Amino acid sequence: MTRRQYTQNFQKILKWCRERRCEIVKGKEYMFQSHQDRNFIYTPMRSDYKSAIMFILHECGHLVVERDERYSQKFPFYHKGEQDLRSKNTKLYKMDILREETKAWETAFELFKELDIKGLEFEELVRKANEMLFTYSEWVHSRDKSDNAWE
Ligand SMILES: [Zn+2]
Repeated sequence: MTRRQYTQNFQKILKWCRERRCEIVKGKEYMFQSHQDRNFIYTPMRSDYKSAIMFILHECGHLVVERDERYSQKFPFYHKGEQDLRSKNTKLYKMDILREETKAWETAFELFKELDIKGLEFEELVRKANEMLFTYSEWVHSRDKSDNAWE
């Protein structure tokens, strides 16, 4: 991905975000955050062009997933975990997060096509998604203090 392609891709994504009241700003790591009516996608300073575009598309995916009016119904154990720290180590909590991460990547795949992203092969995006989801699935299977209880 050339610098010029990166800039064009970034501008298209930024436009898509702004139409959804979301700004892309510098941060420590890639993250989507909503503060009442203002949403932000954070991007770190140092990253190669391809990775930056792939991760920003993924964060846009989180925006779509979390804007769903049925979001808390679809990921109930995630919400329980955020309110009650004891629920954070459960398999149900972890699986909700894995499902959201998967959905955010699937949405990134659709945005890749919709925004006609240049200088990046679709397969590279799928590869990145699989790598990240693999890491999450290892975390899901990891044992922790609470003995990885179901509830
Ligand atoms: Zn994510």
